[in-house]
Amino acid sequence: MPVHPTPRPGIMEISPYVGGRSTAEGHANTIKLSSNESALGPSPKAQAAYRALAAELHRYPDGGATALRTALGTLHDIEPERIVCGNGSDELLQLLAHAYAGPGDEVIHTRHGFLVYPLATLATGATPVVAPERDCTADVDAILGLVTERTRIVFLANPNNPTGTYIPQGELRRLWGGLPEHVVLVIDSAYAEFVTETDYDPGLELAGMAPNVVMTRTFSKAYGLAALRLGWAYAAPAIVDVLHRIRGPFNANAAALAAAHAALEDQEHVARARSLNETCRAALAARLAACGLAVVPSVCNFLLVRFPAKAGRDAAAADRFLSARGIVARRMEPYHLGDCLRITIGLEAETDEVGRALEAFMAAPAADEGSAP
Ligand SMILES: *Cc1c(COP(=O)(O)O)cnc(C)c1O
Repeated sequence: MPVHPTPRPGIMEISPYVGGRSTAEGHANTIKLSSNESALGPSPKAQAAYRALAAELHRYPDGGATALRTALGTLHDIEPERIVCGNGSDELLQLLAHAYAGPGDEVIHTRHGFLVYPLATLATGATPVVAPERDCTADVDAILGLVTERTRIVFLANPNNPTGTYIPQGELRRLWGGLPEHVVLVIDSAYAEFVTETDYDPGLELAGMAPNVVMTRTFSKAYGLAALRLGWAYAAPAIVDVLHRIRGPFNANAAALAAAHAALEDQEHVARARSLNETCRAALAARLAACGLAVVPSVCNFLLVRFPAKAGRDAAAADRFLSARGIVARRMEPYHLGDCLRITIGLEAETDEVGRALEAFMAAPAADEGSAP
């Protein structure tokens, strides 16, 4: 038998991440609501900064991301030295897993937590441990109950994708307070800019004071720069030091750094994105509830919608119905939510179109009802 190169244990258990579909077949103008991208798109100032960089493409980026970290420090009133930038926050989540977990270790995430956590965990050879949720929301006691001496990391998206739910500041504190000091708590606050609830805490204070807390953020969502891949982590100096040792020297590219810096300085644009999202999300949630669909309360720029377990009325049928109208939502099988679709909040007209389509879907006779006499 020939001996082939063999990857480390765990790697072949990974099902590669599949992003949201971009097009509905046969539709020139697809409404893409499958990847939680910004409805508004990037700030015109970020676009200008990106274009201006074109003449400088022969230069390496600032590997220390100094200007952007300084601007982030000013905006959030935190120390720039405690910030590390990455090629999307995905890269930082992967780096954290590789730095702190390996074979024989355990990494906790919640039942419907962001898919990158188990993938990053398996890639290190560690074992993902799944904490049950309550009402599609992280359950602090369930997480703490799973902690052992082998636990290395707890990944928590707050708020979480794809559920859209969050735990308030008090619960976040209680989670951290219940963890042994050797466990890294990663608070993934990718949707923080959309959240307006007053008891919400993105984790800035904990990450600024605790030796075992990392907050991750991204320019992919409210800032509308998903294509450029820019995320950042904020943590204790010892964790920041570890990330600097293992990251690529130029892991945040120059175009991303320039556009993100300009986007950061256009907080009016972010505020517009937030307020548009609130309006459209409330309108769509009310409309879907009115036609009998169960909508998980969301503080993000998407809704998790549960469909009846009935032929012709289920999530797969709804997805086909929407696709036939040029609307692309996200199927949720990989998240153990096969009876749900996740629908990103788009512009007003797009939201209206989804609402109208799902009203029609719910009003149409289901397959097993046949045609009424
Ligand atoms: C979208 C998303 C991210 C961000 O990923 P980037 O790599 O920064 O684009 C991180 N966490 C969650 C929960 C997300 O939904």
